[in-house]
Amino acid sequence: MDFAPGAQIVARILVVEDSPDNMKLFRTLLTLKGHEVTGLPGGEGLLDSIARTEPELVLMDIQLPGKDGFALLAEIRGSAHAALRVLALTAHAMSGDRERALQAGFDGYITKPIEIRSFPEMVKRALAGEVVSH
Ligand code: MN
Repeated sequence: MDFAPGAQIVARILVVEDSPDNMKLFRTLLTLKGHEVTGLPGGEGLLDSIARTEPELVLMDIQLPGKDGFALLAEIRGSAHAALRVLALTAHAMSGDRERALQAGFDGYITKPIEIRSFPEMVKRALAGEVVSH
């Protein structure tokens, strides 16, 4: 990561999201800020992907086919990558997921549909170590 004063923090980010439209949006917004994005449509191969790409941040959809985001967070926390910063992507309609996400050990959450204008700033704050909850 680049922490030069005033510079945009540029990082490797893994996005786990089953909606192709959402994935495309996240990829576009993050790439525009210079981030390196790896995308996964679900939990298959998650730990291998983390080991291979060494992301600084994971954006984890909660509602996924197969294992959900909570189960996948538990896999990460039980792995050699336990300290990885992981943000939950929660659906606006599922308000209970947000509190549950923090209790489960996510490093914050971003509610979908995302606000396109503020999303890059929330990612930047998460990379800087803040608990993002919006
Ligand atoms: Mn989903």
